[in-house]
Amino acid sequence: MAIGYALGVQYSPLPVCGSGRVRTQCRQRRGVVSMSVQKTSKKASLAAEKLLHEFREASATPLPLLHQVSDAMVHEMYAGLSSDGGSDQLKMLPTYVENLPSGKEKGLFYAVDLGGTNFRVLRVQLGGKTGEILSQEFKEVAIPPELMVGTGKDLFDFIAGTLASFVDTEDDSLKSHSGEVRESGFAFSFPVRQTSVKSGIVIHWTKGFKVDDAVGKDIVKQFQDAISRSGHQITISALVNDTVGTLAGGRFNFEEETMIGCIIGTGTNACYVERADTVQKWEHPLPKSGEMVINMEWGNFRSPLLPRTFADEIVDRNSVNPGDQWFEKMISGMYLGEIVRHVLARMAEEAKLFGGYVPVKLLEPLTLGTPQVSKMHADTSPDLQVVAKVLKDVYGVETTTLEERKIVHDVCDIMGERGGRLAAAGLYGILKKIGRTGKAENGSKKKTVIAMDGGLFEHHEPYRTYMESALQELMGSDAAYEVALRLQNDGSGIGAALLAASHSQFT
Ligand code: ADP
Ligand code: MG
Repeated sequence: MAIGYALGVQYSPLPVCGSGRVRTQCRQRRGVVSMSVQKTSKKASLAAEKLLHEFREASATPLPLLHQVSDAMVHEMYAGLSSDGGSDQLKMLPTYVENLPSGKEKGLFYAVDLGGTNFRVLRVQLGGKTGEILSQEFKEVAIPPELMVGTGKDLFDFIAGTLASFVDTEDDSLKSHSGEVRESGFAFSFPVRQTSVKSGIVIHWTKGFKVDDAVGKDIVKQFQDAISRSGHQITISALVNDTVGTLAGGRFNFEEETMIGCIIGTGTNACYVERADTVQKWEHPLPKSGEMVINMEWGNFRSPLLPRTFADEIVDRNSVNPGDQWFEKMISGMYLGEIVRHVLARMAEEAKLFGGYVPVKLLEPLTLGTPQVSKMHADTSPDLQVVAKVLKDVYGVETTTLEERKIVHDVCDIMGERGGRLAAAGLYGILKKIGRTGKAENGSKKKTVIAMDGGLFEHHEPYRTYMESALQELMGSDAAYEVALRLQNDGSGIGAALLAASHSQFT
């Protein structure tokens, strides 16, 4: 549903006549300094208000719509669980994780977290009680660029070598529970077709990696072979996706039952605990626990119900994967700043939002970061000083009226509200699928925790608040379950170590 903005309203570089204030602007681009004097007319701000109104309408997420979105999510979940490719949106991948940490895990475990240009090795000593980590150390290392596009052997020799030398720095007091052998989890944030809890085939590389000869092979075997070449005894006990790590961290840390792991950072994804006998496409014996963690890959959820605007369409068109990952593009950090920038650019060009001044940089892609949007959104000062500062620092807009700043703030608010509420609708869909919604029979509420991670959820407070309140609205005041969103930091690293512990071969 695109907004039908009136085209043909042209930006005029000349001052507009009328009663508006006069301001001086100075901008510098490619060494050329130009001065222009501009005024804001009442007409311009009315036009901006009109665009704002249209944008607000197109982005609206009233409660009935959120219910419909969550129903559409449930529908796709069933389809994705029925057969491979049963849903063209949700992969619904069984992770082979059938034992989540109980909190009673004990001993020394390692993890390797390969998710981008940096990778980390860490060790934790678990104490045996809920949330008890006796000690924790990590080391972060940059992957040399030539190894990112080299051979699997070179890449894994480097990673195994770093892990081995980290193991060698182990303090004598950290006696391993398993003699000479160390156990490690492996958080690997690239597309993998998992074949057991500790094996999986690399589908393809992303994020600047291109290690062609590693594609189509078991990633854990390649790593394990490199560890053997290093002469160390380290066993990889779990291959873990970051959402699963987040879920595992929730199970370990919180007393209440954690059923969902969800990440809203640069991208977004969710996993949850499913009853294994409902996973129709599972062709192996049912796990003893009766449960299976499902990695939804929910970023690719797509529905005509989603309130998309002209800005979403442009962002999608200009992305590396047009047509894919609609949900991700509407709720995650990689796109929020860019969507807001498109709206502001249109307002500046077509409705003279900044009195006719269109900062050149505002027309350049990726110039407004999501952290800046969240900063402006969180501005509670009466005269919106933070908004003024961001506009000045990022786009060189020297002076703005309070009305203009309010419009900018409103655009951030509309986007944060839409993102938070849609994310809540997705989570409500999962809760519905696993039977954790509905009305309380006798007034007593059971508890469910959703373990959350990701920079956007962690740092964008208004977004988080919208998400929390939409979830409560969806659940209803007489709900049978009390649902809490809890931050579980560092899902991938600690989570991988915890899953190595809960799938330990030695305990
Ligand atoms: P990743 O998702 O890449 O693993 P993170 O979970 O740390 O990494 O998320 C980083 C993302 O979080 C950034 O791309 C950005 O979109 C978002 N982010 C970081 N800081 C903030 C902030 N202060 N406010 C809003 N969003 C933020
Ligand atoms: Mg991450």
